[in-house]
Amino acid sequence: MTDQPSNSPETVTVEFAVGIGDGKFTASAIVPAGLTNLTQILPVLQSLDDSLIAGVTAQLAEAGQIVSCKLGCTHCCRQLVAINTFEAEALTAWIQTLPESRQQQLAQRFHQALLKLAAAGLIDRMVNEDWLADTESSNQFALDYLYQRIPCPFLEDESCSIYPMRPLVCREYLVTSAPEHCIDPSTLQSLPVRLPLHFSRSLNVISAVLEQDTRGWIPLLFLFAWMKAGAHPGEAVAGTGPQVLLEFVKTLNHAVPPAPSAERPPEN
Ligand code: SF4
Repeated sequence: MTDQPSNSPETVTVEFAVGIGDGKFTASAIVPAGLTNLTQILPVLQSLDDSLIAGVTAQLAEAGQIVSCKLGCTHCCRQLVAINTFEAEALTAWIQTLPESRQQQLAQRFHQALLKLAAAGLIDRMVNEDWLADTESSNQFALDYLYQRIPCPFLEDESCSIYPMRPLVCREYLVTSAPEHCIDPSTLQSLPVRLPLHFSRSLNVISAVLEQDTRGWIPLLFLFAWMKAGAHPGEAVAGTGPQVLLEFVKTLNHAVPPAPSAERPPEN
């Protein structure tokens, strides 16, 4: 990892490389030269993730595999969406800048979504069952969640209302199968794009260590409940921009388990 002064004295350009099998992911990022923290540099990580995903998508297109996700296709916005605590903190900070009426509208949407989840018995299962005991039970839970068709509270007119700051896991969920395969992946197998690195999972790992929790993520629908604790997890990973980025990059090529998914595992 190398640091170079950038055009602004307040920022510095960092170049780094991460090994991926026989190859490597090389990138550069402009980060604050002074003190920052992991939550504050999320936009940098989102931009790096977008670059990685664009590269993978272009390689797939060259091989004749076209990503079918497009504007207006929002089946995946009815899934269990796992956000890490840094993203929860960033979304909290953003929501608190909104006019009071908009905050109340969002709070009401999250509340309604939780009521639907409770009516389906899924909150009881989260509380009373070891729904994350193994991949099979957690993925079955994710499938049962999808069947409730509860739209993400940020989904408006079948479009993501927070698109530029949407969670990493939303960016990383892309498929090459037809859209209808995402309606019920248990009967029509979807073909997710396999990414060489998952930024979302790396943040989950850092969050899990800090929270002393095996997951490091929360369901997006719990965001407003999480907000009430007033937590600031990003402050636990603070330093200069290059130092914070390095802490993140160090986790990138660790083998990290995915969050629950409604996808049916591919048959061997
Ligand atoms: S945050 Fe946006 S992209 Fe992610 S599930 Fe919600 S509406 Fe969809």
